[in-house]
Amino acid sequence: MNTHRGILIICELAGNSVHRVSFELLNKAMELKERLHEPVDCLLLGPSGKDLNELNLRGADTVYYMQSPVFKNPEEYLFKENITRFIKQHKPGIVLTGATSFGRSLAPRIAAALRTGLTADCTDLKIDEDGNFIQIRPAFSDNILAHINTVTYPKMATVRYKEFEEAQIDSSKKINIVEIEPYVSFFEKSQVIDIFSEESIDISEAEIIVAAGRGIRKKEDLKMIEELAAKLGGTVGASRALVDAGMVKSTRQVGYSGNRVKPKVYVACGISGAPQHLAGMKESEIIVAINSDPSAPIFSVADYGYVGDIYEIVPALIRDLP
Ligand code: FAD
Repeated sequence: MNTHRGILIICELAGNSVHRVSFELLNKAMELKERLHEPVDCLLLGPSGKDLNELNLRGADTVYYMQSPVFKNPEEYLFKENITRFIKQHKPGIVLTGATSFGRSLAPRIAAALRTGLTADCTDLKIDEDGNFIQIRPAFSDNILAHINTVTYPKMATVRYKEFEEAQIDSSKKINIVEIEPYVSFFEKSQVIDIFSEESIDISEAEIIVAAGRGIRKKEDLKMIEELAAKLGGTVGASRALVDAGMVKSTRQVGYSGNRVKPKVYVACGISGAPQHLAGMKESEIIVAINSDPSAPIFSVADYGYVGDIYEIVPALIRDLP
C-alpha cells in the first residue's frame, strides 16, 4: 500500500534569500493541494540565520530547516545524502525542485538514490480526474506536450524557473518552522564548489543579456560581446553552438536544453534563431537581433533587427552607446 503523502518542495538559497523559484513552486503546489487535500511542506538546507517566514506566509504548512555551516555552498553529494534520508523518513508523495542549475544537478541524484522516476523541466503540473499527479513538459523540440504519470514514489519533478506566478503573501498565515539537525555533515566524496566564481552566475535572473552565436568566429572575439554586455549593464549568454564549440560554459547557454530567460532586453548577435534557441528566450521583453542573413528566423521574434555584420555593428554600438 502506498504510504506516501503530501507535497514537498526542496527550496534553494540565492545568496541570503530563498530563491524565487521556491515561491513559484509554492503557488503551483497550493493549486494541487486544492484537489489532493494533502499538506504542502518545504525543506531548505542552509547555514543558520536565514529568514524563512516568507515560505509559510506564501502557503507552506511546515518549513523544515536543516541548518549547518556545511550547507553554505550548494554541494550535490552532501545535499543529496541529507535530502534522501529526509524523504525516506517523511515519505512525501510528490517532491518538487526548481529546474535551476543546482536543482537540475541535484534532483536526478536524489531520484536515483530513491529508485524513483523524475520528470525534468516541467512546464505545468496537475491532478487528473483519477487523482493522478500529471507532469507536463515539452518533448521533441517543443512539438508536443508530454503528460507523464510516474508510477513509483515519491513522484519527482523539476519545474522551470519563471514558469508560474509566485504564491502571494498572506500575513495571517501561521509561521511553522521546524529546525532539524543534518543527518550527515561530512561526505567522503564532497567537492567544494566555489559559488562565487564567475561561471556560477544564474543568467535566468539577468535583466539584460547579450547573447552570441556561431556568427562569432573565435573565442577571442567574444571580448566584444562582453564589452557590449558590460556597457548595457548586462551579462553574456550564448547559443548551444558556442557551448558545443567549447567557447562558452554551459551555464550561459540559452534555449531548450539550456536556460530559459525572460530579460528586459535580449540582444542576439550572430544567432540564427533555431526553435531550440527561441524556446529559451522568446518571452524576453525586448529582442534585438543582429544577423547578416535577412531571412534568419531570429528576425521573426525580434522587436528591432539589424541586418549586417556583427563585427561591424557590435563595435559601433560599443563606441556610440552613451
Ligand atoms: P547557426 O544556426 O549556425 O547560426 C549562426 C547565425 O549567425 C546565422 O544565422 C548566420 O547568418 C549568422 N552570422 C554568421 N556570421 C555572421 C556575422 N559576421 N554577422 C552577423 N551574423 C552572422 N540551441 C541553443 O541555442 N540552445 C539550446 O538550448 C539548444 N538545445 C537543443 C536541443 C536539442 C535536442 C537539439 C537537437 C538542438 C538544440 N540546440 C540548441 C541547437 C539548435 O538547433 C541550433 O543548432 C543552434 O541554436 C544554432 O546556434 P546558432 O544560431 O549560434 O548557429
